[in-house]
Order: sequence, then structure tokens, then C-alpha cells
Amino acid sequence: MIKITLPDGSVKEFEKATTPLEVAKSISEGLARNVISAKFNETIVETTTPLETDGSLVLFTWNDKEGKTAFWHSTSHIVAQAIEELYPGVKLTIGPAIENGFYYDVELPNGSISEKDFSAIEKKALEIARGKHDYKMRAVSKADALAFYKKQGNEYKVELIENLEDGTITFCDHDTFTDLCRGGHIPNTGIVKAIKILSVAGAYWRGNENNTQLTRIYGISFPKQKELTEYLALLEEAKKRDHRKLGKELELFTFSQKVGQGLPLWLPKGAALRERLENFLKKAQKKAGYEMVVTPHIGQKELYVTSGHYEKYGEDSFQPIHTPKEGEEFLLKPMNCPHHCEIYNTKPYSYKELPKRFAEFGTVYRYEQSGELHGLTRVRGFTQDDAHIFCTPDQLDEEFKNVIDLSLYVLGSLGFENFTAQVSVRDLDNPEKYIGSVENWEKAEQAIINAAKEKGLNFVIEAGEAAFYGPKLDFMVKDALGRQWQLGTIQVDYNLPERFDLSYKGSDNELHRPVMIHRAPFGSMERFIALLLEHTGGNFPLWLTPEQAIILPVSEKHEKYAEKVLKSLENNEIRALVDSRNETVGKKIREAEMAKIPFMLIVGENDEADNTISVRKHGGEDLGAISIATFTDLVNTEINSTLKTF
Ligand SMILES: [Zn+2]
Ligand SMILES: [Zn+2]
Repeated sequence: MIKITLPDGSVKEFEKATTPLEVAKSISEGLARNVISAKFNETIVETTTPLETDGSLVLFTWNDKEGKTAFWHSTSHIVAQAIEELYPGVKLTIGPAIENGFYYDVELPNGSISEKDFSAIEKKALEIARGKHDYKMRAVSKADALAFYKKQGNEYKVELIENLEDGTITFCDHDTFTDLCRGGHIPNTGIVKAIKILSVAGAYWRGNENNTQLTRIYGISFPKQKELTEYLALLEEAKKRDHRKLGKELELFTFSQKVGQGLPLWLPKGAALRERLENFLKKAQKKAGYEMVVTPHIGQKELYVTSGHYEKYGEDSFQPIHTPKEGEEFLLKPMNCPHHCEIYNTKPYSYKELPKRFAEFGTVYRYEQSGELHGLTRVRGFTQDDAHIFCTPDQLDEEFKNVIDLSLYVLGSLGFENFTAQVSVRDLDNPEKYIGSVENWEKAEQAIINAAKEKGLNFVIEAGEAAFYGPKLDFMVKDALGRQWQLGTIQVDYNLPERFDLSYKGSDNELHRPVMIHRAPFGSMERFIALLLEHTGGNFPLWLTPEQAIILPVSEKHEKYAEKVLKSLENNEIRALVDSRNETVGKKIREAEMAKIPFMLIVGENDEADNTISVRKHGGEDLGAISIATFTDLVNTEINSTLKTF
């Protein structure tokens, strides 16, 4: 008999060589039907692998990340078989699961695969899947494995096998197809009900551009056709909401090859929007006791040697700036923290004066490979809504709660409701990895966990994920399409206060080290605005959106009245403009829709006579003719419903 420990801690006895699927059956038939992958003693196994020893077992279904991985990897075998049948002589290389789906890299005998071939591959693959073929793993000797692929003339698999140790090599068979594989499959091909080939791309063998270029076929699969349909609709919507596309259409930002890759240029509407976001946070920060500081975009190399940033960014980032003076070197600032440490250092503090909270919208520069650049989410210059809190260890608890409050206020006011937090703590098995005393670490970790609990955050604790210099809390946000983004971080730091020799005088009259907290609720203005664009599809919250209303006179005759309306809206702090072009109202409405302006105020004969405006909402809802005062109330009510109080 063997003892199997399940995730809930319960231990059950089974006959030796019981399979994960049989264990599932012993729990419930329903579970057994849904189990598609398993992990035994931290190793992914087949659901049919006989378990020979005591150990811990985790069963996975489609709803688990591991279940999807097994599902998608298994589908790559099916697609490989389909390609082998459709393109005789094709050489298969590798076919892993990825975050969304899978790919298979192949060398085609001749010609290429393009979009018009996708449906034939999908059809063939589905035909194979419907055969309900079991995935069967078997051990092969190195000699046999090599012989198998040498006979096929597949030098790629031969190379892979040559790097494996004899005795560890396995093949996976299903139907008439065999592949070199470590394992991790679903029980049979019949579970795969929907397969979509998404795209093809070139990919070098082993990612090395000196090697042959292969064809990478991307695909995705689902256990239900309905799920594929939903996924494809989501992809379509994501394309429409791509922040690079919307940023251009709404005239928010641009890039110029002349200025340089990865360096965004903010256009007037984008700059104004950014400023509104900054002012919104500044106002809240002021209430929360932050003080604004301003620091330069460059600093002496020695500053970053002291902070340790030179070691991290120096070689692989922008190279030092030289001056006419021999040996003088400056770096573009990769982080604001060293500058803020020096601000702290300008005078001595007593514990009664702490915490000090220095905030800055600080622009930093980091070199990213050109292939990694992506719109506003991966750039080479960006502005952090940065702040550093210097406090005593006893104040950590309170400060953490305050920062969480501020972050929740920010997320709430921008319409994010679906977020979670990750608390990263030490790996207790490797205490030598961390600087700072055990006592301080315990205090800090407890402070973060307490604050997260008290503020009702939905959070997980990840052991071993903390930086060497302190534990942290990251906010993860789900956008309207269910995609997860990592947002602001709250990070405790014992390292920089040490490196910059920061101190305060305690109640004992002795000098002590303050603790430092780095925090940025937005993360960076660039990334945050990208996320906001994709989350809202460009329909920003009313308080933030570039123009809140556009006034459309039906003819030239009513332009004067339109200007009068504009004046009174401006007096009520509503952002509006008049479209006085010589175009039809129909065309003006269509363009205002495209520009995603929340309210269209149409003014004509009757409006002018009655001193009203005819209001049409973005999307088409008609509010009829109302007075300017009523409209102002309407705008303010809507703003107050999203913009929370702090
Ligand atoms: Zn496999
Ligand atoms: Zn920092």
C-alpha cells in the first residue's frame, strides 16, 4: 500500500501503482471526469502514471493553470500529427504550451504555411482529436530514440536527444503519431473539442539567429466550442482596444523615429489628461501628508554606485554621460530613490519628525531592447508617480495601511473593481539571501499582512518572492477583458537606508536607521494610461476624459448661441468645445462618437429660443432639451459617482 497526501492535508491509502485518475475516482466520479493532469511530489505526471511510492498528489482540471498547460501541450501533438499528414517530409522540433495556447516549430519541406491553410490544419486536427486516442508514454533507450529520428532525417530531434541522458528518454504515442516528449498530457485527444490556428511566424532553431529559420505555428484549443467562440470575440475586442491604436485615434501620444524608439511624445490632449491624473493624485497625497520634491534627470555615477543601481543598470542600460571634465560621469536616472535618500540626508531628524514622505512625478530612463518595446507599456523613458516614506520600524504598520488606502482610492476612482494583491515574503529556508535583521523582517512582513487583512484586500502570500532588501505588496488588476496587469507596488527597503547611512534620533537619544518604503499607485504614468485605455476602450471616466462635451450648432446662425453655451459651461468647469465647421450635424455627431466625447450638445432654433441644449450621450442615448443648469448638475452627479472621496 502507499500513502497519498491530498492538497487539503488528508492522507489516503491506495494499492501500489494506483493512478491519479483512480485516486480522483475514489473521491468522486465527477472529479474523475474532469481531471486532465496531475502533479505528484512536485513533478507533473500523466493521469495514468502508476504511483509507486508515498507522496503528495494534486489533481488539475481545465480550470487550473496546470490543466490548461497539459491541455494545450497535448493539442500541440495533435496539430503536429495533422501537419505531418498534410505536409509529408515536415521536420518537427518542439511544441510547448504557452500562456494562451501553444506553438509548434517545424521545418517545412518546401513552401510555407499562411492564413489560407489554417482551416485545413484545424479540420485535420479536429478529425484526429475526435478519434479519442489515448496519450501513452513509453521509455526508449537513447540508441532507439536516435535511430527513430535518424531514419526520419530529423536532425532537430536528434540534437535534442543527444543532449539527454540514456534512461531518461520517453516518447509519447497517440493514434499513429509518436513524439519525443517528457510528458504532461491529458488522458486522450477526445477532450479537445475546438482547435484554432491563430498565426504563423518565423523562429530560429533554439532562438539563435545563426541557425535555420523554422515556421512557428501558434494555436489554441478548448474543451468546448463555446469557449473558443468567446475567446475569439475577446481577441477581436482586444484589437479594438489596443492602446497604441486608441492613443493615435484620440490624439493622446505618438512616437517619432527621429526622437528615438521607446520615447513617447505626449500630444496636447494626452498631456492634459496626464496632468489631470497627476493633480488627482497630488491632491490626495497632500491630504495623506506627502511633500512634493523635484530632482534632476541625471546624477553622478557615484550616486548610483552607492545605491547599487549602477551594478544593476550600468552595463546593460544607457551608458554614462561624459563631460569636458576628465573623469566626470553622469547617468540618466534609472530610479528616483537615490535622489530622495540624499534629500532625507540634508538634515538630522528626531523620531518625532517621522515619517517623512517625499513624492515626485519622476522621469526615469532604462534601456530596453528594441524588440521588447511595446507602445506605452514597454518604453525607454517613463514617469513614475513615485514616493519614498522614511519611518521608524514601529510606524510601518500605520504607513502600510495609509498607502493601501491611497491605492484603493486611486483604483476605485478610475473604475477598477477587480483587483487582488500579492504579498511577497522571505524564503525561510534561505535566510542568508536577505539583508536586515530577522526581527525587522518579521515586523515588516507582519505589518504588510495585517494591513492587507485589515483593508479587506483579496491577497495571496508568496514565500520566496521578496526582494533581498525587503518584503512587498503588489496590486494586480483585471481589466474589462479579464486580462491581468501588475500595477503599483508597495516595497519595504532595508538596503538603501544602510547604503546612504540614513538615520534618525530615537527616544533613547541614540541614532537609528529609518525604514524606507517605495510606493507608486499608478506604477508609471505611461503604463497606467495604456492600461486605462485598454480597460475603458478609450471611454475614460467623465472626470478624466479630454473633452466632456462638444457643442454642435445646427447651422451658422446658431454659432453665437453655441459660444454663449460654451462660456457658461466653462464657468461651471466643464471641459467643452464648439464644432463650428461647415459640416452637417450628422457628420459632426459621427466624428464626436469616434472621438469618444461623452456628451454632444446640439443647439438649434428651439434651443436658442428656450435657452436650452439638446443632449445626446456617447453611444446614442437622447436626453432631450434641457437647461444648462440641469446639464451641469448631471455632469457633476456622474463625476461624483466615480470620483471617490479621500
Ligand atoms: Zn507531449
Ligand atoms: Zn524607490
